[in-house]
Amino acid sequence: MTTKERVYAYKDEIIASLARLVKYNSVEGTPTETEPFGPTCAAVLKEALGMMEEHGLKTTNLDNYIGFGEIGEGDKLVGVLGHLDIVPAGDGWNTDPFTVTEKDGKLYGRGTSDDKGAMVASMYALQILQDEGYKFNKRVRLITGTNEETGSRCLAHYVEKEGHFDYGFTPDANFPGVYGEKGMVSARFSCNDSRIISINGGEASNVVCNKCTTVLPNDFCDFDKVKQYLEKENLEYTLTDVAEGKELLVRGVAAHASTPYLGRNAISYTFQALAFAGSNDPLVTKYNALIGLATDGSNCNVKYEDKYGALTFNNGVIKTEDGVIWGTIDIRTGLLVKSEEIVERMQKAFDTIGLTLQVRGLVAPLFYEPETPWVQAMVKAYRDVTGDMDTQPMTIGGGTYAKGINNCIGFGCEFAGDDNHIHDANEFVKISDLLLQVEIYVETIKNLCEL
Ligand SMILES: [Zn+2]
Repeated sequence: MTTKERVYAYKDEIIASLARLVKYNSVEGTPTETEPFGPTCAAVLKEALGMMEEHGLKTTNLDNYIGFGEIGEGDKLVGVLGHLDIVPAGDGWNTDPFTVTEKDGKLYGRGTSDDKGAMVASMYALQILQDEGYKFNKRVRLITGTNEETGSRCLAHYVEKEGHFDYGFTPDANFPGVYGEKGMVSARFSCNDSRIISINGGEASNVVCNKCTTVLPNDFCDFDKVKQYLEKENLEYTLTDVAEGKELLVRGVAAHASTPYLGRNAISYTFQALAFAGSNDPLVTKYNALIGLATDGSNCNVKYEDKYGALTFNNGVIKTEDGVIWGTIDIRTGLLVKSEEIVERMQKAFDTIGLTLQVRGLVAPLFYEPETPWVQAMVKAYRDVTGDMDTQPMTIGGGTYAKGINNCIGFGCEFAGDDNHIHDANEFVKISDLLLQVEIYVETIKNLCEL
């Protein structure tokens, strides 16, 4: 029997196993004394560990933060690291998000791709290796966390208790592997000497703002010119008379903060329009000088590019609170630059122009040379199984578990060109893709064991 035949023989069982995990609405909940992420996250972890026992793995539950199943012998440890928690299902589903529903060769349900599907695929990869009589000369651990979506405190707990592994992957990204993840800087600017009565826009710092509402005094600027600018830019807007003066609503286009150039920022266009209309309000002037329409940070002197990609800059949210206007900044740095250096350059630019800046978080980039043998071992497994020699290993602006543990990269479970509606309504995985994942992980685990 070939590996593919073995995988396909398990098809119905794999789908049933996925359904056992998808039925838990494992969004982070209220902690109890023994359940740090709430009872449902603890329950789905228990279910997954039970399934691993059924598949011949020796399991450990680390205080309901995270657990693992292990097989094999040896000093070296191979890690497969994924998560069982999910983001809220939200609206817009055509099926029950917690019941795996098969339609046109696809399995719908929250977590079918991110990341419960990959956990089931990894479990069956280890089952098939046992069926094939494979001799594990290293220990292999399937590690399942329950807090990836809301802070990865599960992985921090794992590293504290169990340390790092020697080689590993997190099937929570893309094939054929992600050897670099940009660093991140999150910050806030604030201003308390503006005549803007209120400005509010955006819902999340990591999304390009697609709607911004500003209330302004009647003598703030020439509102005919505001209209003229927005029409020239082909942006949807409304301008209404309100008790305090005028209310301007500008609509932009949302995009993820790691690709802000794909969106149109409603906040940035609002400030551009106000300047075009003759406003010399301090915030309008300072915003345009430091941020403007640039999505590469060029206005505040943090533009950076290396052979792996360019820095991105996004102001996702702006709010007026107690007379202070503040906004978020989300920067994805390059791979070969220190996040501290970006902060220093940005701070200097903001100080010079006189806009208050508060840095709230720094994450270092992750980078492994693509030629690293254990990285190559994974890429080879993907290529040998799929025959796809064209899709290259990549770098991303987002972050995965790989940043939280040594010797780990994102590998799978999304295939190039696929959009599985991750974090969105109607999330799915193609059955053929799920089975292909199993086949790839069988080969990958073998390759890593043989390093
Ligand atoms: Zn995920």
